[in-house]
Amino acid sequence: MTTYYLTTPIYYVTAKPHLGHAYTTIIGDALARWHRLLGDDVHFLTGTDEHGQKVQDYADAAGKSAQDFVDEIAPLYEQAWQRLNISNDDFIRTTETRHKLGVAELLQRCYDAGDIELDVYKGKYCVACEEYYTDDELDPGDLCKIHKRPVEYYEEENYFFRLSRFEQRLLDWYAAHPGVIIPEFRANEALGLIRGGLRDFSVSRTSLKWGIPLPWDAKHVAYVWFDALANYITAIGFGSDDTTEFDKWWPARHLIGKDIIRHHCVYWPAMLISAGIEPPAGWAVGGWLLSGGEKMSKTSGNVVNPLDLIDDIGVDGFRYYVLAETTYGQDGDFTYEGLIGRYNSDLANNLGNLLSRVATVVDKKCGGIGPAPRADSPLATAAATAYEATAEGWVTVQPSRALDATWQLIRATNAYLESNEPWKAEPGPAVDTVMGDALEALRIVAILASPAVPATSQIVWERIGLSGDINDQRLPVAAQWGGYPGGLSVTKGEPLFPRR
Ligand SMILES: [Zn+2]
Repeated sequence: MTTYYLTTPIYYVTAKPHLGHAYTTIIGDALARWHRLLGDDVHFLTGTDEHGQKVQDYADAAGKSAQDFVDEIAPLYEQAWQRLNISNDDFIRTTETRHKLGVAELLQRCYDAGDIELDVYKGKYCVACEEYYTDDELDPGDLCKIHKRPVEYYEEENYFFRLSRFEQRLLDWYAAHPGVIIPEFRANEALGLIRGGLRDFSVSRTSLKWGIPLPWDAKHVAYVWFDALANYITAIGFGSDDTTEFDKWWPARHLIGKDIIRHHCVYWPAMLISAGIEPPAGWAVGGWLLSGGEKMSKTSGNVVNPLDLIDDIGVDGFRYYVLAETTYGQDGDFTYEGLIGRYNSDLANNLGNLLSRVATVVDKKCGGIGPAPRADSPLATAAATAYEATAEGWVTVQPSRALDATWQLIRATNAYLESNEPWKAEPGPAVDTVMGDALEALRIVAILASPAVPATSQIVWERIGLSGDINDQRLPVAAQWGGYPGGLSVTKGEPLFPRR
């Protein structure tokens, strides 16, 4: 069985879950669900990043211990993902023992390899990014490009990871693994960073207390990257005595945002190579879901809470919008009008309307019993095309294309009903034929749409008389024309997506 280990970035607990976090997590969930339909053995990981100076500062400001602070925030993420119907198999918190053990092991291996050394660091540092920057990486006035705030001058003794030694090894590795970073223009960005020359980066702080001590020098605490990136291996047992899970799942496929390419596609594979671990199997790099044209952040005051939106539009309405609206890899801009527009056009007028029409006509003209489809239906070709293009969209991490392909089948079925007008015909074989075809198209649509709108797909499944959990369907067989058996009770029910 093919294993498919997928990760989201872990989210830093100084912010509560917002639309930006939900965006990546929903994409990961839909991909995980698609791969489960394919019969892959899937492990989908998300979690929270809980160490660092900023967490300590937030905790101090709130008059709490850092541990109490993170213990209050981390569950907000777990709860948000439950409400958004996220099917993660694990949730890693970087304050867990399993993580601390694995980070210590990773550090020790790189230290033993001679790739971590003590040195003095001087430079301009953005406290919000927890990152040193060179002058050409800053905006005029020494402002951080991301946070638009002034950086500070720091000088301290740190351990450094000798990234500069990995330039050729990384280029060779990437040359031997074409296509591991998608979309391609993001791969070019990562290769450009490597070719532009690599600087050693700091892996420890003595000023920092809230973190994981270096195993060979406990005055130093691991800082940001060795702590955060390691979650992808510590969650599956790296650093424990039992490596069964690690051996089974690694290497992972990472979903990341475009702002963390350097860390995930340059630092991380170099760290792994140093430690004698295979680099990741792939990276899919997304843009930002902007709000009012800017990256969502507390300082910009444009934070959208996804949980407020699902009160308005429903979980599946929100999930569908996030997946369908933006081309993965490009930036998207969230607007409330866009959310409502997509909901009305694609969900209410297309999918919702199709189910309602079919159920109404089957009720009136077929005695409420769904007829079987015919083998040579004109919709059979549309269904085959939709399946191919939907599969291609998911496998290439282009959810908007996958959904557009699935929705082509919905549109084709609505058009088929409009040209045949079964609602005007007398009950009989002609109506039965048309309705059997439409029911079969709906069965296939329900399966293909289920990674995006899982609860809705289950409802469609049951309304057309099918039983069992739609998640138990297996592709490609389940998408082949002719699976609707006929003779099942079709239920009208409430509208799936009342117009807004
Ligand atoms: Zn910054």
